[in-house]
Amino acid sequence: MTSTPDVTIVGGGPAGSSLAIALGRAGARVALYEKATFPRLKPCGEGLLPHGVAALERLVGLPSAPRVRGLRFSAGGETVDVDFPAGHGLVVRRDRLDTWLFTAAAETPGVDVRTGTAFDGERGRVLVGADGAKSRFHRLLPATPDRPRRVGLSTHVHGIAGVEDRVEVFFHDHGEVYIAPAGGGETLVAGLFDYRHFRRDGLPHLLGTLPALRDRVERLELTTPLLASAPLGLRVPRVVDHARQLLLVGDAAGCPDPITGDGMALALSSTELAADAILTGRLGDYQRQRLARGRRARRLGRLMLRLSRTERRAAWFLRDLSGVIPKLLDVALEPGSTAG
Ligand SMILES: Cc1cc2nc3c(=O)[nH]c(=O)nc-3n(C[C@H](O)[C@H](O)[C@H](O)COP(=O)(O)OP(=O)(O)OC[C@H]3O[C@@H](n4cnc5c(N)ncnc54)[C@H](O)[C@@H]3O)c2cc1C
Repeated sequence: MTSTPDVTIVGGGPAGSSLAIALGRAGARVALYEKATFPRLKPCGEGLLPHGVAALERLVGLPSAPRVRGLRFSAGGETVDVDFPAGHGLVVRRDRLDTWLFTAAAETPGVDVRTGTAFDGERGRVLVGADGAKSRFHRLLPATPDRPRRVGLSTHVHGIAGVEDRVEVFFHDHGEVYIAPAGGGETLVAGLFDYRHFRRDGLPHLLGTLPALRDRVERLELTTPLLASAPLGLRVPRVVDHARQLLLVGDAAGCPDPITGDGMALALSSTELAADAILTGRLGDYQRQRLARGRRARRLGRLMLRLSRTERRAAWFLRDLSGVIPKLLDVALEPGSTAG
């Protein structure tokens, strides 16, 4: 692209790549900057909820990835299975999903991609910050980390038996452990911890010691590096700067604690909103709708964190109140429900 693009997008994760595809298809000229080179790993629980699957399918189709039909929660000897009210989830290895999506963006007419290149400040008419939770644009549109502060870890392993078509969530006193089928015999393993109890070796240690899991673990072998990320939840009160024609998307626009499993789905299901706003010039509409979606996801996250503050409380919830989980999922996942 020789002339100035209409839109410059900084960050080629799910939010940036999907927006580039939507805008390119609508005839806009887009420059998409990604400072990493693909494939790259990203700390993530890798579960894409059904409304994210639906948004991705509408936009570009689906990558090949294991399907999951719901969740299995375990705490203090209680185990509850919950099916997604509609549709299915996917477990998307981030090195594969992000490469696939970025490649689709690069192949979209009108989209010019630059990998291995941090954004240099030369911009189009509209500038989009899609550069994740540590966005450089938070200097202009400030963000506040959620409390309690939490740390996330993720990796892939061989050596866990009985991993089926559900994301499994194990609550313990200092957070949760997640396992899910990653394809090719691998298992995704992630852990979210209160930062006061965070230890880098805490995740492999828990796999071997959590009563609900330890009998399924044999000769554990990490197949990708153990990656960490903090802080986890983020509130961004303004996601549009009208004077600068700047808007934020994806985690840069704020993200719920990953206990909701909603980060990627929120990014993907907001792509159409962002693309419409840029094409029509109605950035204010995007700000209002995106903030409402973010608030709803963050409220769900806070509720889930309160209900699982200790393993005992999580076990009580699973034993006595698990009937409300489908309702909670329904509210969180029904199509368009995140529109608040
Ligand atoms: C531990 C953990 C577990 C999670 N589990 C889940 C889950 O199970 N399900 C779910 O849906 N979500 C989960 N999430 C959230 C999910 O990872 C994010 O919501 C998602 O990655 C957001 O996508 P994004 O495109 O906004 O940002 P990112 O995926 O962070 O992509 C941002 C991109 O911008 C690039 N970039 C940054 N700065 C620049 C620059 N200056 N110039 C050019 N490029 C730049 C980065 O290299 C990166 O590729 C989890 C997150 C964590 C930390």
